[in-house]
Parts: sequence; C-alpha cells; structure tokens
Amino acid sequence: MRDWVWLRKVRMGNKFVRAIFPGSFDPITNGHLDVVKRAMRLFDELIIAVGRSPIKNQLFTPQERVEMIAELITDLPGVMVESFEGLTVEYAARRKADVILRGLRSLTDVSYEFQLAMTNRAVAGVETVFIMTSEQYGFTSSTLIREIASLGGDLSNLIPANVHKRLEGRFSKLKHKVEDSMQG
Ligand code: ADP
Repeated sequence: MRDWVWLRKVRMGNKFVRAIFPGSFDPITNGHLDVVKRAMRLFDELIIAVGRSPIKNQLFTPQERVEMIAELITDLPGVMVESFEGLTVEYAARRKADVILRGLRSLTDVSYEFQLAMTNRAVAGVETVFIMTSEQYGFTSSTLIREIASLGGDLSNLIPANVHKRLEGRFSKLKHKVEDSMQG
C-alpha cells in the first residue's frame, strides 16, 4: 500500500485528487468493486456515480443501486456513492472531479471506452483513467448477472452477498407476478 501512495505522490504531486466512477451499476458486481479498491490507491476521493439513464432498461431503481453500493463501501475511506442525471462530463464539472475512472475487462471494452474518453476530453477537457480488472472478473458484466440470476444460476463468486439477496428477492417477486397473471 505504501508503494502506491508513493507512486500517487510522484505522479500527481501533493494535489488532492478526486475521481468519479460513473456507470449503470445495475447491479454492482465484484468486478466493479475490484476496480474501486484498486482506484483507492490512486485517488484521495472516489465518487461512485450511478447514472439515472431514462433510455436503459433497468432492473433496479437508481435508489436501490445506490443503497446496495452504500452497504459495500462503509469500510472504504474516501469512497462515496450518489446518483446523477444527464451528461457525465457536466456531473464531473459539478463535482469538481479531476478525472473520470472507468474499468476495463478486455479488448472488447477498449474501442467503446476509447471513443467515450476521447469524446469527453474533446467536449469538456476531462481526462479518463482506466483500471483493468482482475482476471477472474474479466467476463463479469451486470447484463450477464441479471440474465443468470433470472434463470436461478449460482452467482456467489461474482457478486457481493447483499446484491445476491436483492436479486433473489427481485426474481422471486417477478416469478410470483408471472404465476399470478397466468392464474388470473
Ligand atoms: P455503463 O453502462 O456506463 O458501461 P456499467 O455499470 O456497465 O456502466 O460499467 C461501469 C464501468 O465499469 C465501465 O467502465 C465498465 O467497463 C466497468 N466494468 C463493468 N464490469 C466490469 C468488470 N467486471 N471489471 C471491471 N470493470 C468493469
């Protein structure tokens, strides 16, 4: 840990560095958390920013996603969570963030993330920092988690226990609704 603090000081001087980590987090996975924990070594403050996108088809409400994340970061100093609406770059400016943090899983992520980072820099001059996930989370995506959970698969290695519990609750509720509508 000490080496990381030293590295940050060398790279960024003694300046306080605030990063935002924007995303859908629907739901948060161990892959996201892995990126957060690595990022803590580089930044003084990290805000996990849950996007309230009106376009995306979401399983959990922004408030539910924020609640799940809040339960997971209680022992991570300097890490916060909130939701935001609108453009990420505008949110970054409101929060006076120095950088945007994004996670990378594979080469497939790179082309989209590269485009996004270039656009954000072109329109708002904001830099993006990428952190690569651990190998074991290279295939974990929230979309896949939602799909596997809906089919009752075992996800215990890929998501935190509190998220697992909420997913179980959500899908058993959905199951009941379908059964009710078939009977009614
Ligand atoms: P978005 O809809 O903005 O891509 P996500 O919640 O899917 O939101 O992802 C937020 C960020 O986390 C993105 O940079 C994404 O590449 C990254 N990410 C997603 N899953 C993982 C994972 N398993 N490991 C590392 N980074 C991840």
